[in-house]
Amino acid sequence: MDRQQEFVLRTIEDRDVRFVRLWFTDVTGTLKSVALAPAEVEGAFTEGLGFDGSSIDGFTRIFESDMLLQPDPSTFQILPWRGEDEPTSRMFCDVMTPDGEPSASDPRYILRRQLNRAADMGFTCYTHPENEFYLLRSEQLGADGKPVPVDQAGYFDHVPGGVAQDFRRHVVSMLESIGISVEFSHHENGPGQNEIVLRYADALQTADNIMTFRTVVKEVAQLQGSYATFMPKPFGEHPGSGMHTHFSLFEGDSNAFYDPAAEYRLSTTARRFVAGLLKHSPEITAITHQFVNSYKRLWGGGEAPAYVSWGHNNRSALVRVPLYKPDKAGSARVEYRGIDASANPYLTYAVLLAAGLKGIEEEYELPEAAAEDISALTNTERRALGHDPLPGTLHDALRLMEESEFVAGVLGEQACENYLRNKRQEWDEYRVEVTPYELRRYLGIL
Ligand code: GLU
Ligand code: MG
Ligand code: MG
Repeated sequence: MDRQQEFVLRTIEDRDVRFVRLWFTDVTGTLKSVALAPAEVEGAFTEGLGFDGSSIDGFTRIFESDMLLQPDPSTFQILPWRGEDEPTSRMFCDVMTPDGEPSASDPRYILRRQLNRAADMGFTCYTHPENEFYLLRSEQLGADGKPVPVDQAGYFDHVPGGVAQDFRRHVVSMLESIGISVEFSHHENGPGQNEIVLRYADALQTADNIMTFRTVVKEVAQLQGSYATFMPKPFGEHPGSGMHTHFSLFEGDSNAFYDPAAEYRLSTTARRFVAGLLKHSPEITAITHQFVNSYKRLWGGGEAPAYVSWGHNNRSALVRVPLYKPDKAGSARVEYRGIDASANPYLTYAVLLAAGLKGIEEEYELPEAAAEDISALTNTERRALGHDPLPGTLHDALRLMEESEFVAGVLGEQACENYLRNKRQEWDEYRVEVTPYELRRYLGIL
């Protein structure tokens, strides 16, 4: 038993914790949870807790279903929304095979592998996500068949007496009480749309924080009688919900992305990292945009990027180099905007970090920055400037992923196959649907 594990056991006793939830994530980014009696926690630390991996999306084949959860004691937290009466806590887990090896399909392990690679190159990777989501009156659709937002406000609006700011305050204080710092929060462009930006942390911790964040948002919404959704595009006529993420690499205390003498103060390391993100962006789109609905957000407007491009202060670009505090070395970073609100954060950060590291290792050249609004150009203009489109449907994205040795290498063969199988099934379900659009458009005229 190590000191962190002992600390957890002591806290469980001191605080009279009644349930310990073990959390892990399947390939689609769905949080899985099993509640453990406090007396069982010591055994889970020493031997792991067995579960049927074949029942979890993307984990194992049916004939190798026995898996173990190994709780990570550094993630122990009491869950504030469960109240004081019967304190409930949680720990994130690593998924192991019965031989004590990390499971090749555990998204947490897939990210950890890339972080180890970064560490071998001398880097720590910091990330901070801008989480967007819609707050709705309920899960039920309105009379017009659309979701009903809680307000009609827009970007940065302050709505006196509105539910959204009360909601954000509640979420932020709950997050802070379990050690997740929030940088800022505000109303976003769409009606009922909000954004909460978490403070930077190392990429694994950020991914864990995102899973907790999504749970807290859903719980608080329920407590307040509303409903929160991370669906990438719930309204055709309003912006989708993204999860833009800022990346930086540190070598010890120094930001490897910063060079005061360079253009935009962007070091060669940063330029190569961005070149890696751009080059591999089409083949990783099935990870950063994993649902049929994700592609409704990527049509070229609504500040969601649809073309491979970067710009130093360009919100139509896929990678943006923010210019808020250009002289502050520590804050040098690049923002990847091609992630939607319901992406699996572990797999997403694994493929993005791997793409950036590959750019550094292989000394990729960064193309010219885009100065114009890329979505306003014609296809011919875009082609001339080298702004290739990202895949436009889940089907196209899966085809690129299937052909990608890069993605297979990052995910590992087994996880890659499981992921593709899961997503192909989703696409096949979608293609046989006859949608309200088709009925509206064709029934009367053909
Ligand atoms: N909602 C936009 C998206 O889907 C982003 C808006 C913004 O720049 O914050 O990516
Ligand atoms: Mg935003
Ligand atoms: Mg942003």
